Amino acid sequence: MDDQVRQPQSANPSADGGWGAVQDALAQALGMAVGRCDRATPRDCASVSLDSPICHLLRQHPEAAVRCAEQCDEGIEMSMRTGRTQLFQCHARLSVFITLPDLPNGTRHPHSQALIGGRTFLSYEEVHRFRAYADELGLPTEAVEALIPDIRVVTLARVKEALEQVRTVAGAVMALERQLGESREQASRLRYLMEVFGGLEGESPEELANAALNGPAVVFDATAGVVLERPSGSDRYVVTSVFPGKGSAFSGDALGGLEIAATGWLDRAAQGESGSRFDSIYDMLRAGFPAETTGVELFPFSTPGHTRVVVLLNTPLEDDARVAITLYVRHAALLTERHSAQLHGEDDTLGGIPEIAPALWETDDYDALCAGVLKGATACLEAEQGSVMLLDDKQESLSIRAIQGVNIKYVEYVKLRRGEGIAGIVLERGEPLLVEDIAEHPEFRSGIRARYRGRSFLSVPIQLNDLSLGVINVTDKRGGGVFTRRDLRRLLAISHQAALAIDRIRTREQTEELRRATMTDYRSGLLNAQAFDQRLQEEVERAQRYPYASPLSLLVVDIDHFKHINDNFDYLAGDDCIVACARLLQAGTRTIDSVFRRGGEEFTVILPHTGREAAVKLAERLRQSIEDHRVITPHAPHPLSFTVSGGVATFPEDGESAMGLFQRATQALHVAKKTGRNKVLPLPPNLPV
Ligand code: GH3
Ligand code: MG
Ligand code: MG
Repeated sequence: MDDQVRQPQSANPSADGGWGAVQDALAQALGMAVGRCDRATPRDCASVSLDSPICHLLRQHPEAAVRCAEQCDEGIEMSMRTGRTQLFQCHARLSVFITLPDLPNGTRHPHSQALIGGRTFLSYEEVHRFRAYADELGLPTEAVEALIPDIRVVTLARVKEALEQVRTVAGAVMALERQLGESREQASRLRYLMEVFGGLEGESPEELANAALNGPAVVFDATAGVVLERPSGSDRYVVTSVFPGKGSAFSGDALGGLEIAATGWLDRAAQGESGSRFDSIYDMLRAGFPAETTGVELFPFSTPGHTRVVVLLNTPLEDDARVAITLYVRHAALLTERHSAQLHGEDDTLGGIPEIAPALWETDDYDALCAGVLKGATACLEAEQGSVMLLDDKQESLSIRAIQGVNIKYVEYVKLRRGEGIAGIVLERGEPLLVEDIAEHPEFRSGIRARYRGRSFLSVPIQLNDLSLGVINVTDKRGGGVFTRRDLRRLLAISHQAALAIDRIRTREQTEELRRATMTDYRSGLLNAQAFDQRLQEEVERAQRYPYASPLSLLVVDIDHFKHINDNFDYLAGDDCIVACARLLQAGTRTIDSVFRRGGEEFTVILPHTGREAAVKLAERLRQSIEDHRVITPHAPHPLSFTVSGGVATFPEDGESAMGLFQRATQALHVAKKTGRNKVLPLPPNLPV
């Protein structure tokens, strides 16, 4: 490469601050919306690059538009006012960030501009929720469904990272706009690099690899550079593109022949999320870099199946340059991946992924869920065999919860520990495994399992953030074919949905446990007041559905002169009487009845399918059993006896609501107390409520 070409063409950028081109390029590289608003720009999404079409649709709906304005527009105002960054989920479930440019140290922030971006979904579940929301709003279904295939789902970590990158790049460009002069050269280089983004579109994969190296190398006047790739199964990186420098050490021939050991730091750089600098001369020498190397700038350029890294040698960079190059190289990687996907007629959006979710969201049963997931997976991937395995409660071993192609009876007992067998290894590593031909696989060749007809299989972990839940395996592609990367992506999407559904069941179980704990009275073991309110409401609703066919009675019981027990003996003696009363009430009722301690020494009993007469009879029996009982307690010198009074109310004659029924029963209790205690009464029917 001659010197003329190496002159950064940024020598002549239109330096009037063309943020527009940078914004477009940034949005492309990040794969999400990016926009900049200042006090003058309208707050709608007109000025946002790669904006979510969902926002446009919502802004046309009067009610939704108000919420959009409340959240995004006012959010922008607030960030400008307070200087604060916001990351939130909007009413349509898109995750949105609003922040300010990250200006170089020492520059006072004018707070006159804000950046907005993201506007992506964090999971497929959110996509489903958006659909339901759109439906609720009455948005035209065809318009909504037309947007679905283009929806990209990104993780929260990616959104946060994008937020930081947008701040950095915008800060650098703003510095250019504000102080043409000092930082002009650096900022114009950055801008130039962003502007050539557009030119990458349409390049062949080979050209993209060259461009990923040459673009940054030319713009930042690199000493030399290479693209390194680690062939699968190899422990070395080989050079696939060269940006030669001056001197024999960095000549095209010398660099082209390099073989660099796959050390941890190089692997991390290749698989990482952002560019990094490495300058341990000893480690670089040991890995095989030329002896003249004083430092390397490393930019991840890996795509599925290709571990690659762009390396600039002896070219120290500033932080904002590193961010810009990271984005640029990532953009090239993205285009490479898209290219190979198109080549195989693939698409990586939601459009191609089967929706196993909607029915599964409803189930509370792990086995039904796993069966559904497996059915979806094998149908979608045209696999004849497959299984879904989940980790047990102790998180120690995997067991098969659903299987296709083999009778579950044969494998029910099979348990795999973490790291054991292929599924155990996939679980432990947390990485999917696509094997095209097991006989050729360096790691699993020896453990080949004869019961599979095919040699190709797929195994993906079911993971929720960092938590492993299980593994989905499929094998034996119909017609003896080989599983592809497209199959892998689909299975990953299915496993993601499975993880969410499993998480939902777990959350439900935990909530139920918590609910049980909060519904129980600790001393008596009876259900508490909260449980009473809820159950009475449910029972009344049930009775309302079949009025007269299904009467319902309520009994309220209160210990007589309970204060005397507390006063004459110990408070603890009183406690023992409460517990005794609870036991007697429970022992004297049927299993369909429920007994509650509503508070203090007051109890309630809900008697389903019980009319007034039967309820009074039962209440009288209970009263008698309590009167006959003696409480032996260490807190009193002799066995204690006590009596209770009770009031009975029956649906529907005494009240047709939970509240009405309870009031009538309490009134009846008052009458019993006033007329001598130790008795149970219904309210005379003619007494007003
Ligand atoms: P009445 O026949 O009219 O119901 O008279 P009473 O004394 O039973 O009713 P009152 O409501 O005046 O007093 C109830 C007492 O019960 C007051 C309170 O200190 C006591 N109490 C409430 N909860 C507990 C408890 O958990 N343990 C004990 N030992 N006493 C309790
Ligand atoms: Mg009392
Ligand atoms: Mg009381």
